[in-house]
Amino acid sequence: MSAAVAAYDRNNIFARILRGEIPCKKVYEDEHALAFHDIHPQAKIHVLVIPKGAYVSMADFSAQASDKEIAGFVRAVGKTAEILGVVESGYRLLANHGPNSHQEVPHLHVHIFGGQALGKMLA
Ligand code: C5P
Repeated sequence: MSAAVAAYDRNNIFARILRGEIPCKKVYEDEHALAFHDIHPQAKIHVLVIPKGAYVSMADFSAQASDKEIAGFVRAVGKTAEILGVVESGYRLLANHGPNSHQEVPHLHVHIFGGQALGKMLA
């Protein structure tokens, strides 16, 4: 693994959600991904999509995941947006990596923001 990506912590909160140890408000799930509502929503609709594999961020996911996992994850993000009904009105995707981005949870997650007009940037 690249030195820029910390070792995966199997007890991070999203790993525990994936194992069913902590509940979540599920939007969508398939063999590759789980989507659930963020507990501290920053928009009318704020959902997180996480891959089922043990990846810290886009850095190790893009380098190490199989093409099947990557395709499955991207399709799950698109499917989740469809389920949320935000495709026509529009939505924003965001994925943090590392200290400068203030990534809090060390398991790759893509935020989906929607349900309202969004500012140019979400801080
Ligand atoms: O990208 P970042 O790591 O900062 O985002 C983590 C997100 O995970 C936050 O928006 C936080 O509200 C959310 N979260 C959650 N459920 C938890 C812990 C964190 O939805 N149990």
